[in-house]
Amino acid sequence: MIKVCKFGGTSMADGTNIRRVKAILAADPARRYVVASAPGKRYSGDQKVTDLLYETLDEVREGGHVGEAYAKVCERFRGIVRELDLSLDIDSLLEETARAICREGTYDFAASRGEYLIGRILAQFLGMPFIEARDVVKFDACGKLDARTYPLLQAALKGKKNAVVAGFYGEDAEGNVKTFSRGGSDVTGAIVARAAGADLYENWTDVSGFLACDPRIVAGPAGIRSLSYKELRELSYMGANVLHSEAIFPVREAGIPIQIKNTFRPQDEGTRILPITKYVPSGRPVTGIAGKKNFTVIYLEKSLMNAELGFALRILEIFRRYGISFEHMPSGIDTLSFVIDSASFANGVLERVLAEIGEAVSPDKLEVFDDVALIAVVGHGMSRQVGIAARIFQAIARVGVNVRMIDEGSSELNIIVGVDSKDYECTVRAVYEEFFCDDLPR
Ligand code: ASP
Repeated sequence: MIKVCKFGGTSMADGTNIRRVKAILAADPARRYVVASAPGKRYSGDQKVTDLLYETLDEVREGGHVGEAYAKVCERFRGIVRELDLSLDIDSLLEETARAICREGTYDFAASRGEYLIGRILAQFLGMPFIEARDVVKFDACGKLDARTYPLLQAALKGKKNAVVAGFYGEDAEGNVKTFSRGGSDVTGAIVARAAGADLYENWTDVSGFLACDPRIVAGPAGIRSLSYKELRELSYMGANVLHSEAIFPVREAGIPIQIKNTFRPQDEGTRILPITKYVPSGRPVTGIAGKKNFTVIYLEKSLMNAELGFALRILEIFRRYGISFEHMPSGIDTLSFVIDSASFANGVLERVLAEIGEAVSPDKLEVFDDVALIAVVGHGMSRQVGIAARIFQAIARVGVNVRMIDEGSSELNIIVGVDSKDYECTVRAVYEEFFCDDLPR
């Protein structure tokens, strides 16, 4: 039995937490390979080491040398080494790292040092060999994970009973350090699990798994015991940020289950993520609700749009040129909408895109709705069940919210509702109560 364990930033935040990690690993000899995030926040208002490292590069670019932010990074790592009573020469390592950040001069390199340093520290503390991610995690010229990664990792793990692999980064086709997007040590963990042929990928964080909705919106929501890879993808893409939304791909291909566990409550069961064939349905039609704010909807109307060949294609071509990807494209006979992350339209891009669309397809109507929130109601239990959509919309109507957009993927796994951002929280609450609070008076 092989388990790969990834520990998040809170688990690495200080010496006390790292000792918990050691106890967790010692409790099960199958927990052989470890990936860790850079130290996160110790208390609310604290700074994550990764954020400090991005700031470090800003300071280097401004002043030519590391500054206050790096002093804080040093303080964090020195503190951890002291608390763990290690012999590691952290001062030399930090000096060397400062020189390397100045020399390399990229945000990816600077940010990667958090995982590199904690990986070195953890390896010594656990008495395991350290595997440098640059040597084994490779990106191709398009920035995608290179297939060479798996044989390289397998060779590095071969013959090693245990190892710590640095999370979050690898090396691009030119030999430069490249990171995944934020939270990307989850992806490294999944890659290591696949390369090791693990039976389980344990992802240790600071919550006891996925919740049926955001606890900042509904107090004490139900926990989710079991999720399919597909449900996970939908929920995490839509903002349920327990696990990086791309972390499932490496393990899904190999059918390796993911177990979300809480470092601070290891006795809690957490959430298990499984292929649909092995997944245990909760008995409820809806598994979870997630959502995100800050979308812009571009709405077009044109008579006989349905008969005009290449109409959507001409618009998509404009988006492609601007590097804009859309989230949803609901359509009617003579109407078409695009739901797009508002961040794509900063700095006058929206005006230019609208002008180009007007020119390319001469719509009868071209409108923009700002400040739209999307809410995803996700669950395999919804498929082939009559009345689920009706219940969602009745619940939303009861709280007097106007639905701006509806999108139901053909999988029947996910119904997406667009509302004004100001209505986001009360819509989530209404849908949650409809499906999870059976005893609520109506
Ligand atoms: N340290 C990185 C971040 O804060 C990556 C990770 O934690 O997975 O995003």
